[in-house]
Amino acid sequence: MAGIYIHIPFCKQACHYCNFYFSVSTSLKSDLVKAIVKEIELSKDYLGGELIETIYLGGGTPSLLDADEVRSILDAIYHFHPKLDLHELTLEANPDDLTPGKIAELASLRSHGLNRLSIGVQSFYDADLVYMNRAHSAQEAAAAVKRAQDAGFDDLTIDLIYGTPTMPDENWERNILSAFSLGIPHISSYALTVEPKTHLDKYIKTGKSIPIDEAQTVRQFDILMSAMSAQGYEQYEISNFARPGHHAIHNTNYWRGKKYLGLGPSAHSYDGQTRRWNVANNMNYIKSINENVIPAETEPLTPAQQANEYIMTSLRTMWGCDINKLQATSYKSQVTEAIKNIDPSFYIIDGDLLKLTRKGKHYADRIAAELFIED
Ligand code: SF4
Repeated sequence: MAGIYIHIPFCKQACHYCNFYFSVSTSLKSDLVKAIVKEIELSKDYLGGELIETIYLGGGTPSLLDADEVRSILDAIYHFHPKLDLHELTLEANPDDLTPGKIAELASLRSHGLNRLSIGVQSFYDADLVYMNRAHSAQEAAAAVKRAQDAGFDDLTIDLIYGTPTMPDENWERNILSAFSLGIPHISSYALTVEPKTHLDKYIKTGKSIPIDEAQTVRQFDILMSAMSAQGYEQYEISNFARPGHHAIHNTNYWRGKKYLGLGPSAHSYDGQTRRWNVANNMNYIKSINENVIPAETEPLTPAQQANEYIMTSLRTMWGCDINKLQATSYKSQVTEAIKNIDPSFYIIDGDLLKLTRKGKHYADRIAAELFIED
């Protein structure tokens, strides 16, 4: 089973924390969609005939595409990747795009397989949205979710960000309660992080934005985990919470090391042996595709790199890291030895599975790095 990811690199405005590739000018939108359609044909053999189980339109902001543009992309996938057993087709949408007209357009895509929306809510408080420079208001966020549900999109996920300096703990608790009261079955929640070279990085350094408080981030992650568990959401990955039956299949397949094909500027692909990433530039991408060349760099993954990716991603999931999946025997013993140097309150060993405790989830990436295999 494999997945297809399509990166739509356009946004209405730049969120201050964002380090994804996108452009705020949509002048190349139609050319770019045509190029993606062409890339689908050029990459038709990449997945080696694996059954496609999921399609994910992310970005950027896929809800900036009109329904015909989405249809042309999906038609090309269905034509050139005919081995399909499609269980999940997700489209990311920003609340300000989800007008009644747009929801009706999206509903018309159900016959093309669309069955899940991911709405970039981030917060139900305007002060936080202004801090992040989101293009929508809190009121628009709640209205967008209700409109999607009224149109029959029950399989919904929203993003919520914690650790925003404008958001005291009481507001974070209310944000989570708002998501519960809207009956959303899946929530992805990330800490606000300051990535180098983002607007947020610059504004904090120049005193224009309030800096992030680590202690607040830690507290709010704890509030999140308690609230989610009390409401019966499974924390199946550190940042992802779902009611039973609502795990995201596409992302779960990433974490389980399944193959995926990424289309569009800056999209990444993985064929089980190598990683490939497309150029992060709309003009260069379109030009190269029009010359029948996928503008990508490829990196073969060494056995140690593959093992480290598995350690990194699996440790973040509720299924944990299965030491037996580390192919080389020497890797198993290296990891088994390295675990002994980690605070035992951060993990449990369940047979061959290494899982993080709630305390350990605060340090997942650091713990994974301690276990990394050296070539
Ligand atoms: S909408 Fe998403 S991709 Fe676009 S700038 Fe904001 S965070 Fe980045």
